[in-house]
Amino acid sequence: MLSSIKSKLIVLVLYTFSVVFTSLGFFMYYELEDIVITSIDSHLHNEVQMIAGLLRAEESDIEHELSEVAVGEYAVPLSGHYYQIVSPDKRIIASSPSLSVVGASLSIIKGSSEPSYMTIIGPERNPLRLMTQSFIVSNKTYTIQAADSLEDSYKILSSFKKIILIVFPSIFIIFVIGILVITGLSLKPLDYFSRKVGQITEMNLNERIDEQGIDMELQPLAASFNTMLGRLEESFLRQSQFMADASHDLKTPASVIKSYCDVTLGRDRTESEYKEALGKISEMVDRISNIISRILEISRLESKTFSLNIVGIDLMDIMKDVLKLLEPSASASGIKINLSGQRVNISGDRERLTEAFINIADNAIKYNKKDGSVDIVVGDKNGEALVTVMDTGIGIPEKGREKIFDRFHRIDESRSVVAGSGLGLSIVRAIIKAHGGRIEVESEIGKWSRFIIFLPSKKNRSVTSFL
Ligand code: ADP
Repeated sequence: MLSSIKSKLIVLVLYTFSVVFTSLGFFMYYELEDIVITSIDSHLHNEVQMIAGLLRAEESDIEHELSEVAVGEYAVPLSGHYYQIVSPDKRIIASSPSLSVVGASLSIIKGSSEPSYMTIIGPERNPLRLMTQSFIVSNKTYTIQAADSLEDSYKILSSFKKIILIVFPSIFIIFVIGILVITGLSLKPLDYFSRKVGQITEMNLNERIDEQGIDMELQPLAASFNTMLGRLEESFLRQSQFMADASHDLKTPASVIKSYCDVTLGRDRTESEYKEALGKISEMVDRISNIISRILEISRLESKTFSLNIVGIDLMDIMKDVLKLLEPSASASGIKINLSGQRVNISGDRERLTEAFINIADNAIKYNKKDGSVDIVVGDKNGEALVTVMDTGIGIPEKGREKIFDRFHRIDESRSVVAGSGLGLSIVRAIIKAHGGRIEVESEIGKWSRFIIFLPSKKNRSVTSFL
């Protein structure tokens, strides 16, 4: 129910408003009532003191003396302004004409020397404020009572109550309208956001939200959103590039197979011609299956469910295995491989690391010169295990050297030297990174290349995510 910001704000305002204004309303009402009653009491007190003064001055002729006060409102029957004097034997010895003319009286209350005030029902069944006080005159205790109607005061209070009941809800309604307008205006840029987000598909990932054109508070949100879009765009472009490169690299051997088949089947061939064609086709199929298995390897490495099988291993043992596997192809090319260094223990995935080092050493053989050499050294430095693989090959130009770790990236010069997919080093970097290591490359064009692989030694190791 309170799922929107607007409804939450309205409930909050309603709650605050009810608490604050109800308390304020009650406080103001009772304060006003107190002021009104206090002013009536003070007026009654003055009246009673004046009558008491007259009583003391002329006890015998009280009626005559009181005629002085029995003018104005006191002279009008049931005007709402009354007084009466009660003798010690509870007789009313004098009262205002407003009472005596109609033969009414105020209820007699026992007085004391201190004034007492109360609200009573008067002769016309209207509310009266009554003050009672006793005075001793010539050793006799007289009680003086004066009363004023509360009708006018009650009218004022009731009008005030009405004003509160009209004004406060009106203020509340104005508040709610204000909140609706303000929240509507403040949330408008969010509508723009959601519209913009809704419009983004893989076709327009290059679009951005104009950060300067929106409210300051929303600028960080727009900036984060734009950064996210940038990352999405980059990853999408990489994905499309990957698809394009993969298709391109698969298309070349497929076209070669197709043309061999067409040419060979164009007319009858001798057995040796068929054998030669099938040999070429088989070579191309190997190339295709090599690319496919590398693509599968990359997607395996990228998969979230993939994990390393970590065990304690000796890097020197791994390099010996690599050497054993590559020696036949090296000697076929007349290349000498030397392995030196020391035993270095690390924690890692034996199979993956062997695969990574095979790729690097295989490149060192593939991109070498005739009768060249490959030197592999295993060691450790500053608490890190390191393997260097140095060849005496064609070298890697400085420009774009780092790109050789990107998928499908091949340096033009190497294309003429040897066939490849451009995927090997991207797999190597992913494996090394997953082990918490890094790979660096140094080279001098036409002379040598050196790949240095750093891996955390056993105690420093922490596995990070792939790619
Ligand atoms: P591939 O060898 O299948 O082309 P890689 O990802 O293993 O793919 O290598 C990417 C590119 O890096 C190679 O095409 C080559 O141009 C360059 N390269 C890698 N290793 C060497 C090396 N030892 N010497 C010279 N160039 C190399």
